Amino acid sequence: MGAEGPSHCICGKPFGVEHALSCPTGGFPIIRHNELRDITASLMTEVCHGVAVEPTLQTLSGEQMALCSAITTDDARVDIQATGFWGDRKQRAFFDVKVFNLLPRASETSHWRNATRGVNGIRRTHS
Ligand SMILES: [Zn+2]
Repeated sequence: MGAEGPSHCICGKPFGVEHALSCPTGGFPIIRHNELRDITASLMTEVCHGVAVEPTLQTLSGEQMALCSAITTDDARVDIQATGFWGDRKQRAFFDVKVFNLLPRASETSHWRNATRGVNGIRRTHS
């Protein structure tokens, strides 16, 4: 490791600021995601009730998810739950937070486009 940091990331790719901000191995994408999730949830408490972070979703009862990446196990969760967000005081809304690099390299553009498609139906498990 030099004075400016390692030459390569633990994932094997050349290390730099942009790589550090995007590489899931280093944890920065997760840290940014969780900060944005928590700030958003905190702001939602000002206008909604029943705000919860990372609530476990209701168990599926035969529903089919549109995306094959959807988690269908009983411990699936969502980033934020809030009641009354859309105006109906009894309606619950669920939000998934995604953080993107706004300046992807040309080689990563197709990956970015794919990542923004069909976010509905994503379910995740606790990690
Ligand atoms: Zn890396």
